[in-house]
Amino acid sequence: MYDVIITGAGPAGTAAGYLLGRAGFSVLLLDRKTFPRKKACAGGITPKAMALFPFDISCFVRRTCREVKITRPGNASFIVKAKAPLCYITKRTDLDAYSLEKALQAGCRFSKIDRIIHLEQDDHGINLTFSCDGKTDCVRAGHLIGADGANSKIRRLVGGQWSSIIKLPALEADVPVKNAGRYPMEFDFSRDIQGYYWIFPRKTRVNIGIFSALPNGTMNRTLLKNYAGERFKTDALTDVKGYPIATSYGRAYLGTGRVLLAGDAAGLAEPLLGEGIYSALKSGILSARAIEHADGRKASARSADALGWYRQALGGLQLDLRLYRYCASILYRFQKWSLAAGSCSILQNCFSRGYSKGKALHEILRPF
Ligand SMILES: Cc1cc2nc3c(=O)[nH]c(=O)nc-3n(C[C@H](O)[C@H](O)[C@H](O)COP(=O)(O)OP(=O)(O)OC[C@H]3O[C@@H](n4cnc5c(N)ncnc54)[C@H](O)[C@@H]3O)c2cc1C
Repeated sequence: MYDVIITGAGPAGTAAGYLLGRAGFSVLLLDRKTFPRKKACAGGITPKAMALFPFDISCFVRRTCREVKITRPGNASFIVKAKAPLCYITKRTDLDAYSLEKALQAGCRFSKIDRIIHLEQDDHGINLTFSCDGKTDCVRAGHLIGADGANSKIRRLVGGQWSSIIKLPALEADVPVKNAGRYPMEFDFSRDIQGYYWIFPRKTRVNIGIFSALPNGTMNRTLLKNYAGERFKTDALTDVKGYPIATSYGRAYLGTGRVLLAGDAAGLAEPLLGEGIYSALKSGILSARAIEHADGRKASARSADALGWYRQALGGLQLDLRLYRYCASILYRFQKWSLAAGSCSILQNCFSRGYSKGKALHEILRPF
């Protein structure tokens, strides 16, 4: 019997595993991939997300951006600048492998599994059945953290598919370019889509991608190829990967009983630009704290404590999610006008200062 089982070794799962392992809990971390593994993600880490990593990840930063170019419909653009960094660009393959290594060093056990089959809970713990190498296995633990991403199986097993989750598609690719360093980080709203294209420069290549603010937004390799052709005069895309980003309409569903959902499994990514690493870390950390709070080591019948504590602790993030949804509905409905307003220096200063100081959206918007 383990104190905690965590499904998914992304930022949410590894942050939770690292903290619980360090606190002396026995933790089994399960993922359907062996690491290092590829993950569809541009690897942009905002200062507020950077501040949450429970270990130093500075050696994985491939570019620090203090300027962000915003391209408006009609191709006019403006640059948002800050003295402090606005974003750090990393590569998720390396970052996630390192985060898992840190969780293992903290005492977690890791197993690669093929499929989660069944989950049941009683007053004292949970039983998780999964398959691995053609065999079926069942493990028991005091609590389970479902951190298995946007298509979470755990979420479905605890009835969360009926709640307000919404999946927004995103597609990315790398483009080899000469002097990648001369390109600024860019969000390009000039195309006629409810969403944006991005350009995130790394050292020898740029990462480009499309984010759709609509769940059924069209995106495919050809669109990315055409974009690379227009912007970089090449169609040599490598590592093309797509995956949904999970957000929520109203309050995110955070689990039931002894099962806590974290990160994209709970639909906690923000729907404005699709940032999900911050909320994955925040919820991973708070789910670990919630289990510590309920003292999972004794596995006494205090499961409601963990989930209740967790729900309360995530109040600020839930408020931010609602604000992001509101901002997204304005931005994508009135793109031209909202981005014209966004080019005003008072707004820019307010956002760039807030972002670079690692503030949450409700803190940035407080003066308004
Ligand atoms: C193209 C793209 C670009 C993005 N760019 C950014 C960005 O620049 N900045 C940012 O902040 N966010 C970005 N995001 C969002 C971000 O990637 C996610 O929000 C974030 O990874 C969520 O972290 P997580 O730990 O909840 O889940 P994930 O990182 O998705 O990790 C889930 C883990 O669970 C495992 N898993 C899945 N199913 C199972 C299963 N059934 N059993 C066991 N294991 C399972 C997976 O293998 C994976 O390792 C992007 C997303 C996409 C798709």
